[in-house]
Amino acid sequence: MLSVEEALERVLSYFHPLDQEEKPLLQALGQTLARDIVSPLDIPPLDNSAMDGYAVRWEDIEAASEGSPVELEVIGQVAAGQLPRRRVRKGTAVRIMTGAPIPSGADTVVPFEDTDEVPRKARLGSINQIGILRVAHKGANVRPAAEDIRRGQVVLQKGTVLGAAHIGVLASLGFASVPVIRRPVVAILATGNELVRPGRVSRAGKIYDSNSFSVAAAVQRCGGIPHLLGIAKDNLPDMFRKIEKGLSADLLVTSAGVSKGDYDVVKDVLVQRGEISFWSVRMRPAKPLAFGAINGPHGRSVPHIGLPGNPVSALVAFEVFCRPAILKMLGRARLERPSIEAVLESSIRNTDGRRVYARVAVSRRGSTYYARLTGPQGSHILTSMALADGLAVCPEDVFSLEPGQRAKVLMFEWPEEMPQHLS
Ligand code: AMP
Ligand code: MG
Repeated sequence: MLSVEEALERVLSYFHPLDQEEKPLLQALGQTLARDIVSPLDIPPLDNSAMDGYAVRWEDIEAASEGSPVELEVIGQVAAGQLPRRRVRKGTAVRIMTGAPIPSGADTVVPFEDTDEVPRKARLGSINQIGILRVAHKGANVRPAAEDIRRGQVVLQKGTVLGAAHIGVLASLGFASVPVIRRPVVAILATGNELVRPGRVSRAGKIYDSNSFSVAAAVQRCGGIPHLLGIAKDNLPDMFRKIEKGLSADLLVTSAGVSKGDYDVVKDVLVQRGEISFWSVRMRPAKPLAFGAINGPHGRSVPHIGLPGNPVSALVAFEVFCRPAILKMLGRARLERPSIEAVLESSIRNTDGRRVYARVAVSRRGSTYYARLTGPQGSHILTSMALADGLAVCPEDVFSLEPGQRAKVLMFEWPEEMPQHLS
């Protein structure tokens, strides 16, 4: 039997970050930057005002106070998007709006509320003079050019996973598209004579194919593009035909047909069409796993991961092997789920020295996380997965974990009320 680490290492050695593509900004959300982004601009491009107020020369106003205001002549006005027309000389000021460029000669902005503009206007209607009542310091409320980003600077590094703020930074630099590592296409094939596509009528003895959908959703969640190949019957010709359609994908994922059943023909197909190994991985659920490469057209070979058929096993094996492979193709540095340490409220039994991934609901009281089994842990009980926030791990060499003991929990999703800073 292989350890989880050995199996994962072998799987990952087949995968590399994919080639890059140029994506419109918004469509690049969640993708990995394919190269460093060097700024073509200073941001802000010019010294500009952080407040609505008056642009002044500090030396003119530094002595101002409410008791003895300094009076300046107002020689103009400048709004965001305009360029100032006049220079601020001794004894003058320019009325200025937030974001507007600072006129030459001025070095400081006095906000409206530190002037007598409101009472003066009430008294006189329009005004040509302004009284400065309070002062801060030289340079107050001036945002210097290039304070945020300097032209020529590397603003975002290759490997950055683009979030909302990164998209905003790229937009602020004027980019309409961005070079990112493309998303992998993952072809998904369910196998089994018993399977019926949801939406069709099922008959006695048949079950609906859930693996195609849970796996496709999981592919989408981690950033891949799922491509459903449908259901293959447990016979060679049908399997060949269906697999054929997945040979342009970056990864082929099949479910079922990798254990020791009579109808497990995935093996036979792969033995004929590529190289394949069947592994027993020291984990529960999802002990059987197939991994290999299928020969495609033009000498191309497509990596293949054969998940076990049981719905929980399929998803857990996806978590442990497919998700990291997809993230690696996406150019991600971090391949593991975030984890927490939680106090168990249920016991986890380990009967045969495998690593147990137990489905748990996680809650938080005070600063402590608690994890409770979501119900019976059979690998066919898919609702136990649906109720889970994560997988609690019982190590191979630990016979059992009891309530009150701590366990590492790999988190699927952060429940809303949980702080996100943890690991
Ligand atoms: P197998 O690996 O073919 O022995 O399948 C193991 C178990 O998983 C059987 O009970 C199958 O009916 C079930 N199973 C296989 N494929 C699927 C699927 N796509 N959706 C739901 N259950 C499945
Ligand atoms: Mg089967």
